This record gives sequence, C-alpha cells and structure tokens, in this order.
Amino acid sequence: MDWFHRLDLHRIDPDTLTLRRVFEMQLNYQIELVLICRTPDCRRRAKVDMITRIDKYGSASTLGHMRKRSRCSGCDMPEPDAYFLIESPRRFEDQWFPRRPS
Ligand SMILES: [Zn+2]
Repeated sequence: MDWFHRLDLHRIDPDTLTLRRVFEMQLNYQIELVLICRTPDCRRRAKVDMITRIDKYGSASTLGHMRKRSRCSGCDMPEPDAYFLIESPRRFEDQWFPRRPS
C-alpha cells in the first residue's frame, strides 16, 4: 500500500486539506504539493513553498482556498490543479496523486 492510501487521501477531497496538513505531509512523508496549470498547451508545474503560503493564508486555511487564489506564472490562468508527488529514488517511478499528470 502506498503513502497516499495510508494517509487516506483517496477518501477525501484534497481541496479540504488544511495548509498545516499539506505542510506536515511534506515534512513527514516527503510528499510535495505541485500546482499544474489548466491551460492545455501550458501545463506549467510549480512546487509550492508551503511556509510562504501559510504566512499568507494561515495554517488553518485550505488547499482549495489557496488554489483559488493562485495563478500560473506563465500564462496567468487562475486555479491550477493540485497534485501530490513523491519523488522516487533512482530506478523507481515517481508516485503521483490523484493521478499522473498529463
Ligand atoms: Zn499556464
């Protein structure tokens, strides 16, 4: 069973996660939040500096709240999609949640 299932992430809407929880996932399990632009020919990916976001929105605010206030730095499209990533050591594939981004 992978970390995403161990953390019960498949049972909940990721937008309801608090920024505190997202930061704890990064610290404790090396699960990174990656925001990916929704524009089909852009799809810019950005890892998120959670400390900066927590300073801005508060640790009790949600991923959904933060996402709605984010924009692509390339094409300015609002509301990027949220993905979680565990980067694998060599030889293994990275794990993505909820799915590998296209
Ligand atoms: Zn974009």
